[in-house]
Amino acid sequence: MADIIKLLPDHVANQIAAGEVVQRPASVVKELLENAIDAGADSIKLIIKDGGKNLIQVIDDGIGMSPTDARMGFERHATSKIQKAEDLFRLNTKGFRGEALASIAAIAHVEVQTKPEQDEMATHLRIEGSEIKFQEVCVAPKGTSMSVKNLFFNIPARRNFLKSNQVELRHITDEFHRVAMAHPNIAFNFYNNGSELFNLPKANQRQRIVHIFGSKTNEKLVPVNEETQVVKISGFINKPEFAKRSRGEQFFFVNNRFIKSPYLHHAVLAAFEGLIKSDSYPGYFLYLDVDPASIDINIHPTKTEVKFDDEHTLYAILRSTIKHSLGQFNVVPALDFDQ
Ligand code: ADP
Ligand code: MG
Repeated sequence: MADIIKLLPDHVANQIAAGEVVQRPASVVKELLENAIDAGADSIKLIIKDGGKNLIQVIDDGIGMSPTDARMGFERHATSKIQKAEDLFRLNTKGFRGEALASIAAIAHVEVQTKPEQDEMATHLRIEGSEIKFQEVCVAPKGTSMSVKNLFFNIPARRNFLKSNQVELRHITDEFHRVAMAHPNIAFNFYNNGSELFNLPKANQRQRIVHIFGSKTNEKLVPVNEETQVVKISGFINKPEFAKRSRGEQFFFVNNRFIKSPYLHHAVLAAFEGLIKSDSYPGYFLYLDVDPASIDINIHPTKTEVKFDDEHTLYAILRSTIKHSLGQFNVVPALDFDQ
């Protein structure tokens, strides 16, 4: 029989990969913010319109890209962040898969302006559905501006599946919170339909949390600090009396990356045992720093899951550290929860 297997054209492969990387506007926001952070930005602006359906723009003052890199960045598996497999064990960047820009450009209209500090002139590039429409020299400040318009313009089923602007804005805001909390040393501004939603100056962890969640948060926070050979833990837990029925203020950051971990969540719950009702959740903002060689973040394209080498030890350390913090701040069990 004749051979029938063929390699897919790049733009088709990109569109398929985009299905995993880009679920909704908030996914684009995450990828662009992370690229800005990896570029060493001090200050990042996020501008969106209509829940991100019609515009998502991220402007940074990071290292920028050369004219060639500005094109290369949109190739699949093109990255400046790793070169060989071993680099996966010493990651200190958010990105490494070299997939985000290629995926986004396959399903949206993207416009870039970028300039490295030392270059005289900037590059202006437009790419639509993986096709470069133009590239020209322009004048722009140091750093990079990426605008993503008409998300899913060529995948009607996906576009129709998007929720209301308000719901998409909520997802974007959640993503923005996570990234901003992971990087208090970077200033962030967030504008939606022309009005400023957040203006976060450079801060420490506590100030950043309070800027995002409001001044009432400050009195709720109990500091958590521990350093062992396996992990350095910092951040805050909310005092037990502020535990809520609904979830929402539970955050783990591992090496400055927001992650979800039912297992570590359970360790926190175990530390609060007897202090809160069994149907309520304590708030926490916990920053774990571990040796990059001891984790695998490459489980899913969105990188919100992480595999730890020794999660049992981590569990035990986390639980006892939080118990200790609760004890230190004289948090004692309430006799009657219903009062
Ligand atoms: P990854 O982040 O995994 O490397 P991306 O597709 O997100 O893959 O980006 C591809 C490359 O484009 C990056 O490795 C980086 O070199 C470059 N790049 C993307 N965004 C920026 C930015 N805001 N500033 C400077 N370089 C960028
Ligand atoms: Mg990236």
